[in-house]
Amino acid sequence: MRCEICGKSITGKPLKTKIEGSLMITCQECSKFGKVQREPQKLGRSRGAARRGGVRRQPRPIEPTYEVLENYNEIVRKAREKKEWSREELGEKIYEKASVISRVESGKMVPDIKLAKKFERILHVTLLEKTSDVTKEDFGSSKIKGATIGDIAKIKRH
Ligand SMILES: [Zn+2]
Repeated sequence: MRCEICGKSITGKPLKTKIEGSLMITCQECSKFGKVQREPQKLGRSRGAARRGGVRRQPRPIEPTYEVLENYNEIVRKAREKKEWSREELGEKIYEKASVISRVESGKMVPDIKLAKKFERILHVTLLEKTSDVTKEDFGSSKIKGATIGDIAKIKRH
């Protein structure tokens, strides 16, 4: 059995890993690129399993990853000024304090996805960029030994 990501033969148990929507057989290390699919075994006794019987059983789609655009603060400020709203007014419309608006506009605070979406909706701007790439952070923290740029490129294509 070979790992579909790195191509090495798998020592130990091959893992079914869901990476960007496709199920792949991977080694332990490469499973960190995605979500390991649990073997549907010990479900028999779990409470709620019976009750859930008739409900949708679709696998959950992979949530898209969002990245806040680098110049989010300018986008927010310009859009707000165009509408001639004060920070207080904008804050009221999206149920945030004016101080939050100030911090975002000065670049001191990166809005989280929820907040960014509120800005997008009320100001009709785009602040979020959908990315489904393996981010640098994920990659750095996963400590995958021997992964090369080629490996990453391969994953991105799936
Ligand atoms: Zn591998």
